[in-house]
Amino acid sequence: MSQCVFCLIAAGKIPASKVYEDERAIAFMDIVPLRPAHVLVINKRHAQYVHDLNDDERNHLFAVANKVGQALRASAFKPAAVHFNISDGKAAHQTVPHVHLHVLPRYQHDSLAFVGSLFAKPLWMLKGGVSRATLERQAQEIRNHMP
Ligand code: AMP
Ligand code: ZN
Repeated sequence: MSQCVFCLIAAGKIPASKVYEDERAIAFMDIVPLRPAHVLVINKRHAQYVHDLNDDERNHLFAVANKVGQALRASAFKPAAVHFNISDGKAAHQTVPHVHLHVLPRYQHDSLAFVGSLFAKPLWMLKGGVSRATLERQAQEIRNHMP
């Protein structure tokens, strides 16, 4: 889909700080992260909902997300846990209509900060998110630990 921002990333037409890429999927830094090291994993072929992916695509999406989770755990971000999330539809706050799996670090007792960042996100969006240099640094650190 020519107007879909994640299709543009998949086609290499707009910048993304990539953690991983193969012929079917890409993992890249979220431009308005809920916290440092917030990664998105997408299937390259456009599909809005999880049920629009075929079994291979769905399995591969999660296989890549799993590798990103492993890399996060091994990286300097040292999360105590990893959060995997898919918002599958508008009512679940899916804002980009192209399936994407959020992978992000969680820490002990961070629930309040985590929920706070969800509320603060619209403000960060207005400010345009994090600098490309910061996203590139974080992507490099995670890339260095990809299994
Ligand atoms: P969701 O609300 O689950 O649909 O998440 C969509 C995510 O895509 C949000 O966290 C956005 O910050 C992120 N996003 C939107 N545009 C871009 C972009 N060009 N590069 C990286 N992340 C993006
Ligand atoms: Zn798309």
